Amino acid sequence: MSTSEFETVSLRKEVLSRLGVFYVDLMGRSGFADSRWMHLGHSFEDMRENRWLERVHPLDRDHAREALLRHFRGETPAFKCEFRVEDGDGEYRWFISAGAVERRERNGTPLTFVGHNEDVTSLHNLREELQRAYRLAEERASEAEALRGAGAVVVASLDAPTAVRSVIEQLQSLVPLDTAMVCELEDRELRFVGGASDVTEESFREFARRRLKTFLKVVKSRLPESAEEPDQPTRYKLYVPLVARGATVGVLALARASAGFAKEDVRIAMSMADYLSLALSNARLYSRMQQRAEIDQLSGVLTRRAFMESAEQVMDHAFHTGKPLCCLILDLDHFKSINDTYGHPVGDQVIRTLGAIMRDSLRSTDMVGRFGGEEFCALLIETGLEKGREVTERLRLAIAATDFPGVERAVTASIGIASLANAADDETAPERLSIEQIIQRADVALYHAKETGRDRAVAYDMMEAADRTAGSRDSLETKKSGQPGAGGGGEPA
Ligand code: GH3
Ligand code: MG
Ligand code: MG
Repeated sequence: MSTSEFETVSLRKEVLSRLGVFYVDLMGRSGFADSRWMHLGHSFEDMRENRWLERVHPLDRDHAREALLRHFRGETPAFKCEFRVEDGDGEYRWFISAGAVERRERNGTPLTFVGHNEDVTSLHNLREELQRAYRLAEERASEAEALRGAGAVVVASLDAPTAVRSVIEQLQSLVPLDTAMVCELEDRELRFVGGASDVTEESFREFARRRLKTFLKVVKSRLPESAEEPDQPTRYKLYVPLVARGATVGVLALARASAGFAKEDVRIAMSMADYLSLALSNARLYSRMQQRAEIDQLSGVLTRRAFMESAEQVMDHAFHTGKPLCCLILDLDHFKSINDTYGHPVGDQVIRTLGAIMRDSLRSTDMVGRFGGEEFCALLIETGLEKGREVTERLRLAIAATDFPGVERAVTASIGIASLANAADDETAPERLSIEQIIQRADVALYHAKETGRDRAVAYDMMEAADRTAGSRDSLETKKSGQPGAGGGGEPA
Protein backbone atom coordinates (compact mmCIF):
# COMPACT_ATOMS: atom_id res chain seq x y z
CA MET A 1 0.00 0.00 0.00
CA SER A 2 1.47 3.36 -1.00
CA THR A 3 1.68 6.17 1.54
CA SER A 4 -0.99 8.24 -0.15
CA GLU A 5 -3.31 5.23 -0.39
CA PHE A 6 -2.83 4.57 3.34
CA GLU A 7 -3.52 8.20 4.16
CA THR A 8 -6.67 8.15 2.09
CA VAL A 9 -7.99 5.08 3.90
CA SER A 10 -7.27 6.33 7.43
CA LEU A 11 -8.44 9.81 6.50
CA ARG A 12 -11.68 8.37 5.17
CA LYS A 13 -12.18 6.39 8.39
CA GLU A 14 -11.64 9.46 10.51
CA VAL A 15 -13.99 11.65 8.51
CA LEU A 16 -16.68 8.96 8.41
CA SER A 17 -16.35 8.29 12.13
CA ARG A 18 -16.63 11.98 12.85
CA LEU A 19 -19.82 12.04 10.78
CA GLY A 20 -21.23 9.28 12.98
CA VAL A 21 -20.53 6.35 10.70
CA PHE A 22 -19.25 3.01 12.03
CA TYR A 23 -18.20 -0.11 10.20
CA VAL A 24 -17.92 -3.68 11.51
CA ASP A 25 -16.44 -6.77 9.90
CA LEU A 26 -18.68 -9.31 11.59
CA MET A 27 -16.37 -12.26 10.96
CA GLY A 28 -12.94 -10.65 11.43
CA ARG A 29 -11.64 -7.98 13.78
CA SER A 30 -11.47 -4.97 11.49
CA GLY A 31 -13.71 -1.91 11.35
CA PHE A 32 -14.09 1.35 13.23
CA ALA A 33 -16.50 2.94 15.69
CA ASP A 34 -18.20 6.28 15.20
CA SER A 35 -17.30 9.38 17.20
CA ARG A 36 -20.71 9.54 19.01
CA TRP A 37 -20.15 6.07 20.41
CA MET A 38 -16.55 6.81 21.40
CA HIS A 39 -17.55 10.13 22.86
CA LEU A 40 -19.37 8.20 25.59
CA GLY A 41 -16.13 6.47 26.52
CA HIS A 42 -16.71 3.30 24.53
CA SER A 43 -14.30 1.70 22.06
CA PHE A 44 -14.63 -0.19 18.84
CA GLU A 45 -14.08 -3.41 20.82
CA ASP A 46 -17.15 -2.52 22.95
CA MET A 47 -19.16 -2.40 19.78
CA ARG A 48 -18.31 -5.83 18.45
CA GLU A 49 -20.31 -9.02 18.82
CA ASN A 50 -22.99 -8.55 21.44
CA ARG A 51 -20.96 -6.25 23.66
CA TRP A 52 -22.67 -3.11 22.37
CA LEU A 53 -25.91 -4.35 23.94
CA GLU A 54 -24.32 -4.25 27.40
CA ARG A 55 -24.00 -0.45 26.95
CA VAL A 56 -27.63 -0.11 26.01
CA HIS A 57 -30.22 0.70 28.68
CA PRO A 58 -31.74 -2.56 30.05
CA LEU A 59 -35.21 -1.39 29.07
CA ASP A 60 -34.16 -0.79 25.44
CA ARG A 61 -32.00 -3.92 25.03
CA ASP A 62 -34.65 -6.37 23.82
CA HIS A 63 -36.10 -4.21 21.10
CA ALA A 64 -32.65 -3.06 19.93
CA ARG A 65 -31.38 -6.65 19.68
CA GLU A 66 -34.58 -7.78 17.99
CA ALA A 67 -34.38 -4.97 15.41
CA LEU A 68 -30.80 -5.89 14.50
CA LEU A 69 -31.52 -9.63 14.28
CA ARG A 70 -34.54 -9.01 12.08
CA HIS A 71 -32.33 -7.13 9.65
CA PHE A 72 -29.56 -9.77 9.86
CA ARG A 73 -32.15 -12.43 8.97
CA GLY A 74 -33.05 -10.33 5.94
CA GLU A 75 -36.54 -9.50 7.17
CA THR A 76 -36.01 -5.73 6.98
CA PRO A 77 -34.10 -3.79 4.30
CA ALA A 78 -32.24 -1.83 7.00
CA PHE A 79 -31.77 -1.58 10.73
CA LYS A 80 -33.19 1.44 12.50
CA CYS A 81 -33.67 1.82 16.22
CA GLU A 82 -33.86 4.36 19.02
CA PHE A 83 -32.29 3.44 22.36
CA ARG A 84 -30.37 4.79 25.31
CA VAL A 85 -26.61 4.28 25.61
CA GLU A 86 -24.77 4.50 28.91
CA ASP A 87 -22.28 7.36 29.05
CA GLY A 88 -19.79 5.93 31.53
CA ASP A 89 -21.08 8.08 34.41
CA GLY A 90 -24.21 6.00 34.85
CA GLU A 91 -26.23 8.48 32.79
CA TYR A 92 -27.80 7.63 29.45
CA ARG A 93 -27.92 9.40 26.10
CA TRP A 94 -30.55 8.76 23.45
CA PHE A 95 -29.25 7.38 20.15
CA ILE A 96 -30.90 6.88 16.83
CA SER A 97 -28.97 4.10 15.17
CA ALA A 98 -29.42 3.11 11.55
CA GLY A 99 -27.47 0.79 9.32
CA ALA A 100 -27.45 -2.10 6.88
CA VAL A 101 -25.52 -5.26 6.09
CA GLU A 102 -23.05 -4.39 3.37
CA ARG A 103 -22.05 -7.92 2.30
CA ARG A 104 -23.57 -11.34 2.94
CA GLU A 105 -22.43 -14.88 2.29
CA ARG A 106 -24.28 -16.83 -0.35
CA ASN A 107 -26.44 -18.42 2.35
CA GLY A 108 -27.35 -14.95 3.63
CA THR A 109 -25.05 -14.83 6.66
CA PRO A 110 -24.07 -11.16 7.12
CA LEU A 111 -20.39 -10.44 6.74
CA THR A 112 -20.03 -6.67 7.12
CA PHE A 113 -22.26 -4.01 8.63
CA VAL A 114 -22.16 -0.27 8.15
CA GLY A 115 -24.19 2.11 10.24
CA HIS A 116 -24.67 5.60 11.61
CA ASN A 117 -25.29 6.80 15.17
CA GLU A 118 -26.89 10.09 16.05
CA ASP A 119 -27.11 11.46 19.59
CA VAL A 120 -30.68 12.78 19.85
CA THR A 121 -30.77 13.37 23.61
CA SER A 122 -31.56 17.07 23.35
CA LEU A 123 -34.29 16.33 20.82
CA HIS A 124 -35.66 13.72 23.16
CA ASN A 125 -35.65 16.09 26.10
CA LEU A 126 -37.37 18.68 23.98
CA ARG A 127 -40.02 16.15 22.97
CA GLU A 128 -40.60 15.19 26.61
CA GLU A 129 -40.72 18.85 27.55
CA LEU A 130 -43.34 19.40 24.87
CA GLN A 131 -45.37 16.42 26.05
CA ARG A 132 -45.19 17.71 29.61
CA ALA A 133 -46.30 21.15 28.47
CA TYR A 134 -49.11 19.59 26.47
CA ARG A 135 -50.28 17.54 29.47
CA LEU A 136 -50.10 20.62 31.67
CA ALA A 137 -52.11 22.62 29.13
CA GLU A 138 -54.73 19.88 29.09
CA GLU A 139 -54.88 19.84 32.87
CA ARG A 140 -55.20 23.62 32.96
CA ALA A 141 -57.99 23.47 30.38
CA SER A 142 -60.05 21.03 32.46
CA GLU A 143 -59.25 23.11 35.53
CA ALA A 144 -60.55 26.23 33.78
CA GLU A 145 -63.67 24.31 32.78
CA ALA A 146 -64.28 23.16 36.38
CA LEU A 147 -63.69 26.68 37.68
CA ARG A 148 -66.11 28.09 35.15
CA GLY A 149 -68.66 25.47 36.23
CA ALA A 150 -68.16 26.34 39.88
CA GLY A 151 -68.56 30.04 39.09
CA ALA A 152 -71.78 29.43 37.19
CA VAL A 153 -73.20 27.42 40.09
CA VAL A 154 -72.36 30.12 42.59
CA VAL A 155 -73.98 32.79 40.46
CA ALA A 156 -77.11 30.73 39.91
CA SER A 157 -77.60 29.38 43.39
CA LEU A 158 -78.57 31.44 46.38
CA ASP A 159 -78.72 28.42 48.59
CA ALA A 160 -75.34 27.79 50.25
CA PRO A 161 -75.59 23.98 50.70
CA THR A 162 -76.50 23.52 47.01
CA ALA A 163 -73.65 25.73 45.85
CA VAL A 164 -71.22 24.00 48.23
CA ARG A 165 -72.20 20.54 46.98
CA SER A 166 -71.70 21.54 43.33
CA VAL A 167 -68.39 23.31 43.92
CA ILE A 168 -67.09 20.27 45.81
CA GLU A 169 -68.13 18.05 42.90
CA GLN A 170 -66.12 20.27 40.55
CA LEU A 171 -63.16 20.17 42.92
CA GLN A 172 -63.34 16.37 43.03
CA SER A 173 -63.03 16.26 39.26
CA LEU A 174 -59.61 17.92 39.58
CA VAL A 175 -58.20 16.68 42.89
CA PRO A 176 -58.73 13.10 44.10
CA LEU A 177 -60.60 13.29 47.42
CA ASP A 178 -62.22 10.84 49.77
CA THR A 179 -64.28 13.44 51.50
CA ALA A 180 -64.77 17.18 51.80
CA MET A 181 -66.78 19.50 54.00
CA VAL A 182 -67.42 23.20 54.39
CA CYS A 183 -68.22 25.03 57.56
CA GLU A 184 -69.18 28.62 58.05
CA LEU A 185 -67.87 30.92 60.72
CA GLU A 186 -70.50 33.15 62.22
CA ASP A 187 -70.44 34.84 65.63
CA ARG A 188 -67.21 32.95 66.37
CA GLU A 189 -68.95 29.66 65.87
CA LEU A 190 -68.30 27.00 63.24
CA ARG A 191 -71.47 25.86 61.53
CA PHE A 192 -71.74 22.99 59.07
CA VAL A 193 -72.88 24.16 55.62
CA GLY A 194 -72.43 21.16 53.37
CA GLY A 195 -70.01 18.67 51.93
CA ALA A 196 -69.50 15.57 49.85
CA SER A 197 -72.49 13.23 49.72
CA ASP A 198 -71.47 11.09 52.71
CA VAL A 199 -70.89 13.98 55.12
CA THR A 200 -73.62 14.72 57.64
CA GLU A 201 -73.95 17.41 60.27
CA GLU A 202 -73.16 14.74 62.89
CA SER A 203 -70.00 13.52 61.17
CA PHE A 204 -68.89 17.12 60.70
CA ARG A 205 -69.32 17.86 64.42
CA GLU A 206 -67.34 14.79 65.35
CA PHE A 207 -64.64 15.77 62.85
CA ALA A 208 -64.43 19.42 63.91
CA ARG A 209 -64.46 18.67 67.65
CA ARG A 210 -61.20 16.74 67.39
CA ARG A 211 -59.51 19.27 65.14
CA LEU A 212 -60.77 22.49 66.61
CA LYS A 213 -57.24 23.79 67.12
CA THR A 214 -56.38 23.34 63.44
CA PHE A 215 -59.64 25.00 62.37
CA LEU A 216 -58.95 27.98 64.59
CA LYS A 217 -55.39 28.23 63.35
CA VAL A 218 -56.56 28.34 59.74
CA VAL A 219 -59.27 30.90 60.58
CA LYS A 220 -56.69 33.09 62.26
CA SER A 221 -53.77 32.77 59.86
CA ARG A 222 -55.98 32.71 56.71
CA LEU A 223 -53.44 30.26 55.28
CA PRO A 224 -54.05 26.69 54.11
CA GLU A 225 -52.80 23.99 56.43
CA SER A 226 -52.09 20.35 55.66
CA ALA A 227 -51.91 17.62 58.27
CA GLU A 228 -51.24 13.92 58.52
CA GLU A 229 -53.05 11.60 60.91
CA PRO A 230 -51.48 8.13 60.59
CA ASP A 231 -54.12 6.49 62.82
CA GLN A 232 -57.01 7.65 60.60
CA PRO A 233 -58.37 5.81 57.55
CA THR A 234 -58.14 9.05 55.56
CA ARG A 235 -54.82 10.16 56.95
CA TYR A 236 -54.08 13.22 54.81
CA LYS A 237 -56.01 16.42 55.53
CA LEU A 238 -56.02 19.84 53.95
CA TYR A 239 -57.72 22.86 55.51
CA VAL A 240 -58.32 25.92 53.33
CA PRO A 241 -59.65 29.20 54.73
CA LEU A 242 -62.64 30.79 52.99
CA VAL A 243 -61.97 34.51 52.84
CA ALA A 244 -64.41 37.13 51.63
CA ARG A 245 -63.80 40.88 51.85
CA GLY A 246 -60.80 40.42 54.12
CA ALA A 247 -62.58 38.28 56.69
CA THR A 248 -62.57 34.53 57.17
CA VAL A 249 -66.12 33.32 56.55
CA GLY A 250 -65.46 29.61 56.82
CA VAL A 251 -63.14 26.66 56.27
CA LEU A 252 -62.98 24.00 53.58
CA ALA A 253 -61.66 20.69 54.93
CA LEU A 254 -60.47 17.96 52.55
CA ALA A 255 -59.32 14.43 53.33
CA ARG A 256 -57.96 11.45 51.47
CA ALA A 257 -56.19 8.18 52.16
CA SER A 258 -53.96 7.84 49.12
CA ALA A 259 -51.34 10.60 49.25
CA GLY A 260 -50.47 13.89 50.84
CA PHE A 261 -51.71 17.09 49.21
CA ALA A 262 -49.18 18.50 46.75
CA LYS A 263 -48.60 22.17 46.03
CA GLU A 264 -50.71 21.86 42.88
CA ASP A 265 -53.66 20.41 44.87
CA VAL A 266 -53.46 23.28 47.34
CA ARG A 267 -53.47 25.81 44.51
CA ILE A 268 -56.60 24.31 42.92
CA ALA A 269 -58.34 23.97 46.30
CA MET A 270 -57.64 27.66 46.95
CA SER A 271 -59.21 28.67 43.61
CA MET A 272 -62.31 26.66 44.48
CA ALA A 273 -62.28 28.17 47.96
CA ASP A 274 -62.74 31.60 46.33
CA TYR A 275 -66.03 30.39 44.87
CA LEU A 276 -67.09 28.86 48.16
CA SER A 277 -66.39 32.14 49.95
CA LEU A 278 -68.47 33.93 47.35
CA ALA A 279 -71.28 31.38 47.73
CA LEU A 280 -71.29 31.79 51.50
CA SER A 281 -71.27 35.56 51.43
CA ASN A 282 -73.93 35.64 48.66
CA ALA A 283 -76.15 33.35 50.70
CA ARG A 284 -75.70 35.56 53.75
CA LEU A 285 -76.52 38.69 51.79
CA TYR A 286 -79.52 36.95 50.30
CA SER A 287 -80.89 35.82 53.65
CA ARG A 288 -80.40 39.33 55.02
CA MET A 289 -82.37 40.72 52.08
CA GLN A 290 -85.03 38.10 52.70
CA GLN A 291 -85.24 39.18 56.31
CA ARG A 292 -85.75 42.74 55.15
CA ALA A 293 -88.57 41.49 52.90
CA GLU A 294 -86.80 42.52 49.73
CA ILE A 295 -86.99 39.02 48.34
CA ASP A 296 -90.27 37.39 47.44
CA GLN A 297 -90.47 34.17 49.45
CA LEU A 298 -92.19 32.11 46.77
CA SER A 299 -90.12 32.94 43.68
CA GLY A 300 -86.82 34.01 45.23
CA VAL A 301 -86.62 37.21 43.12
CA LEU A 302 -87.05 40.82 44.28
CA THR A 303 -90.41 41.96 45.54
CA ARG A 304 -92.16 44.52 43.39
CA ARG A 305 -91.38 47.25 45.90
CA ALA A 306 -87.68 46.40 46.15
CA PHE A 307 -87.49 46.14 42.35
CA MET A 308 -89.06 49.57 41.80
CA GLU A 309 -86.83 51.17 44.43
CA SER A 310 -83.64 50.14 42.65
CA ALA A 311 -84.96 50.27 39.09
CA GLU A 312 -85.16 54.06 38.89
CA GLN A 313 -81.45 54.34 39.75
CA VAL A 314 -80.60 51.72 37.15
CA MET A 315 -82.54 53.70 34.52
CA ASP A 316 -80.76 56.93 35.50
CA HIS A 317 -77.38 55.22 35.28
CA ALA A 318 -78.16 53.83 31.82
CA PHE A 319 -79.32 57.23 30.62
CA HIS A 320 -76.24 59.06 31.92
CA THR A 321 -73.69 56.54 30.68
CA GLY A 322 -75.43 56.01 27.35
CA LYS A 323 -75.41 52.26 27.95
CA PRO A 324 -78.34 50.34 26.45
CA LEU A 325 -80.96 48.65 28.61
CA CYS A 326 -83.95 46.41 28.07
CA CYS A 327 -87.04 45.90 30.15
CA LEU A 328 -89.10 42.77 29.84
CA ILE A 329 -92.40 41.68 31.32
CA LEU A 330 -93.28 38.04 31.39
CA ASP A 331 -96.65 36.49 32.11
CA LEU A 332 -97.51 32.78 31.99
CA ASP A 333 -100.19 31.73 29.54
CA HIS A 334 -103.51 30.44 30.88
CA PHE A 335 -102.20 30.19 34.38
CA LYS A 336 -105.71 30.29 35.81
CA SER A 337 -106.41 27.00 34.09
CA ILE A 338 -103.25 25.45 35.63
CA ASN A 339 -104.52 26.47 39.05
CA ASP A 340 -107.97 25.14 38.20
CA THR A 341 -106.73 21.82 36.82
CA TYR A 342 -103.92 20.93 39.23
CA GLY A 343 -104.69 23.01 42.29
CA HIS A 344 -103.26 26.12 43.86
CA PRO A 345 -100.23 24.39 45.53
CA VAL A 346 -99.09 23.10 42.12
CA GLY A 347 -99.59 26.64 40.78
CA ASP A 348 -97.36 27.92 43.59
CA GLN A 349 -94.72 25.36 42.65
CA VAL A 350 -94.86 26.61 39.06
CA ILE A 351 -94.19 30.15 40.27
CA ARG A 352 -91.30 28.88 42.40
CA THR A 353 -89.76 27.07 39.42
CA LEU A 354 -90.35 30.05 37.16
CA GLY A 355 -88.44 32.26 39.63
CA ALA A 356 -85.49 29.85 39.47
CA ILE A 357 -85.59 29.82 35.66
CA MET A 358 -85.58 33.63 35.56
CA ARG A 359 -82.61 33.80 37.95
CA ASP A 360 -80.70 31.12 36.05
CA SER A 361 -81.38 32.52 32.58
CA LEU A 362 -80.42 36.11 33.31
CA ARG A 363 -77.10 37.48 34.46
CA SER A 364 -76.46 38.11 38.12
CA THR A 365 -76.26 41.84 37.36
CA ASP A 366 -79.73 41.90 35.78
CA MET A 367 -82.68 42.76 38.03
CA VAL A 368 -85.67 40.50 38.35
CA GLY A 369 -88.84 41.22 40.30
CA ARG A 370 -92.15 39.46 40.81
CA PHE A 371 -94.92 41.87 40.01
CA GLY A 372 -97.80 39.73 41.15
CA GLY A 373 -99.25 36.31 40.41
CA GLU A 374 -97.19 34.74 37.63
CA GLU A 375 -95.95 38.02 36.24
CA PHE A 376 -92.30 38.98 36.37
CA CYS A 377 -90.41 42.09 35.31
CA ALA A 378 -86.69 42.20 34.51
CA LEU A 379 -84.18 44.91 33.62
CA LEU A 380 -81.34 43.67 31.43
CA ILE A 381 -78.38 45.91 32.16
CA GLU A 382 -76.14 47.04 29.28
CA THR A 383 -78.24 45.08 26.82
CA GLY A 384 -79.35 46.46 23.48
CA LEU A 385 -82.57 45.48 21.72
CA GLU A 386 -81.00 42.77 19.58
CA LYS A 387 -79.24 41.03 22.46
CA GLY A 388 -82.32 41.56 24.63
CA ARG A 389 -84.53 39.80 22.10
CA GLU A 390 -82.07 36.92 22.00
CA VAL A 391 -82.09 36.57 25.79
CA THR A 392 -85.88 36.81 25.86
CA GLU A 393 -86.26 34.13 23.23
CA ARG A 394 -83.91 31.84 25.14
CA LEU A 395 -85.93 32.44 28.29
CA ARG A 396 -89.22 31.69 26.51
CA LEU A 397 -87.80 28.43 25.09
CA ALA A 398 -86.37 27.44 28.49
CA ILE A 399 -89.81 27.82 30.07
CA ALA A 400 -91.54 25.85 27.31
CA ALA A 401 -88.95 23.07 27.66
CA THR A 402 -89.25 22.80 31.45
CA ASP A 403 -91.16 19.91 33.05
CA PHE A 404 -92.99 21.75 35.81
CA PRO A 405 -93.59 19.31 38.70
CA GLY A 406 -97.20 18.18 38.86
CA VAL A 407 -98.20 19.79 35.57
CA GLU A 408 -98.87 17.36 32.76
CA ARG A 409 -98.73 19.83 29.92
CA ALA A 410 -96.34 22.40 28.55
CA VAL A 411 -96.31 25.69 30.41
CA THR A 412 -95.65 28.65 28.15
CA ALA A 413 -95.09 32.33 28.68
CA SER A 414 -95.66 35.52 26.72
CA ILE A 415 -93.05 38.23 27.00
CA GLY A 416 -93.06 41.90 26.14
CA ILE A 417 -89.80 43.75 25.70
CA ALA A 418 -88.92 47.43 25.41
CA SER A 419 -85.52 49.02 25.07
CA LEU A 420 -83.87 52.22 26.08
CA ALA A 421 -82.02 53.18 22.89
CA ASN A 422 -78.29 53.41 23.17
CA ALA A 423 -77.33 57.08 23.12
CA ALA A 424 -73.89 56.27 21.70
CA ASP A 425 -75.47 54.67 18.63
CA ASP A 426 -78.17 57.19 18.03
CA GLU A 427 -77.97 60.54 16.27
CA THR A 428 -80.93 61.87 18.18
CA ALA A 429 -80.78 61.90 21.94
CA PRO A 430 -82.72 59.03 23.48
CA GLU A 431 -86.01 59.67 25.10
CA ARG A 432 -85.61 59.95 28.79
CA LEU A 433 -87.99 57.21 29.87
CA SER A 434 -89.00 56.73 33.46
CA ILE A 435 -89.15 53.21 34.85
CA GLU A 436 -92.96 53.41 34.73
CA GLN A 437 -92.82 54.43 31.05
CA ILE A 438 -90.51 51.62 29.97
CA ILE A 439 -92.61 49.10 31.91
CA GLN A 440 -95.72 50.50 30.25
CA ARG A 441 -94.12 49.91 26.83
CA ALA A 442 -93.05 46.35 27.69
CA ASP A 443 -96.59 45.79 28.91
CA VAL A 444 -98.09 47.01 25.62
CA ALA A 445 -95.79 44.52 23.85
CA LEU A 446 -96.86 41.78 26.27
CA TYR A 447 -100.51 42.54 25.56
CA HIS A 448 -99.78 42.26 21.86
CA ALA A 449 -98.01 38.90 22.42
CA LYS A 450 -101.09 37.61 24.26
CA GLU A 451 -103.40 38.95 21.53
CA THR A 452 -101.45 37.37 18.71
CA GLY A 453 -101.40 33.84 20.06
CA ARG A 454 -99.33 33.67 23.31
CA ASP A 455 -96.08 31.64 23.78
CA ARG A 456 -94.15 34.42 22.06
CA ALA A 457 -92.01 37.46 22.69
CA VAL A 458 -92.84 40.85 21.17
CA ALA A 459 -90.59 43.92 21.14
CA TYR A 460 -92.32 47.27 21.56
CA ASP A 461 -89.60 48.91 19.45
CA MET A 462 -90.59 46.76 16.47
CA MET A 463 -94.36 47.12 16.71
CA GLU A 464 -96.48 49.09 14.23
CA ALA A 465 -97.61 52.45 15.55
CA ALA A 466 -101.27 51.37 15.37
CA ASP A 467 -100.61 48.31 17.55
CA ARG A 468 -98.80 50.42 20.09
CA THR A 469 -101.90 52.47 20.73
CA ALA A 470 -104.25 49.49 20.53
CA GLY A 471 -104.02 49.07 24.26
CA SER A 472 -102.37 47.39 27.16
CA ARG A 473 -103.83 44.93 29.57
CA ASP A 474 -106.09 46.28 32.25
CA SER A 475 -104.02 44.26 34.72
CA LEU A 476 -101.63 47.19 34.60
CA GLU A 477 -104.22 49.20 36.44
CA THR A 478 -104.59 46.46 39.03
CA LYS A 479 -100.83 46.48 39.51
CA LYS A 480 -100.69 50.23 39.82
CA SER A 481 -103.19 50.13 42.64
CA GLY A 482 -100.99 47.49 44.24
CA GLN A 483 -103.68 44.84 44.63
CA PRO A 484 -102.74 41.19 44.68
CA GLY A 485 -103.65 38.87 41.82
CA ALA A 486 -106.99 37.11 41.99
CA GLY A 487 -105.37 34.03 43.57
CA GLY A 488 -104.06 36.27 46.32
CA GLY A 489 -101.48 33.62 47.24
CA GLY A 490 -98.26 35.45 46.92
CA GLU A 491 -98.40 39.06 45.84
CA PRO A 492 -95.16 40.44 47.17
CA ALA A 493 -95.36 43.51 49.36
P1 GH3 B 1 -103.18 34.75 30.24
O1 GH3 B 1 -102.62 33.80 29.26
O2 GH3 B 1 -104.06 35.77 29.59
O3 GH3 B 1 -102.14 35.39 31.07
O4 GH3 B 1 -104.12 33.87 31.15
P2 GH3 B 1 -103.97 33.67 32.69
O5 GH3 B 1 -104.93 32.62 33.08
O6 GH3 B 1 -102.56 33.39 33.02
O7 GH3 B 1 -104.42 35.07 33.21
P3 GH3 B 1 -103.74 35.98 34.30
O8 GH3 B 1 -102.29 36.13 34.01
O9 GH3 B 1 -104.53 37.25 34.40
O10 GH3 B 1 -104.01 35.11 35.58
C1 GH3 B 1 -103.31 35.20 36.76
C2 GH3 B 1 -103.75 34.07 37.65
O11 GH3 B 1 -102.71 33.80 38.57
C3 GH3 B 1 -104.94 34.41 38.49
C4 GH3 B 1 -104.67 33.72 39.82
O12 GH3 B 1 -105.53 32.60 39.96
C5 GH3 B 1 -103.28 33.22 39.73
N1 GH3 B 1 -102.42 33.60 40.84
C6 GH3 B 1 -102.06 34.85 41.25
N2 GH3 B 1 -101.19 34.78 42.27
C7 GH3 B 1 -101.00 33.45 42.55
C8 GH3 B 1 -100.21 32.72 43.48
O13 GH3 B 1 -99.50 33.26 44.31
N3 GH3 B 1 -100.28 31.37 43.45
C9 GH3 B 1 -101.05 30.72 42.54
N4 GH3 B 1 -101.05 29.38 42.53
N5 GH3 B 1 -101.79 31.38 41.63
C10 GH3 B 1 -101.78 32.72 41.62
MG1 MG C 1 -101.08 34.76 32.79
MG1 MG D 1 -100.83 37.37 35.14
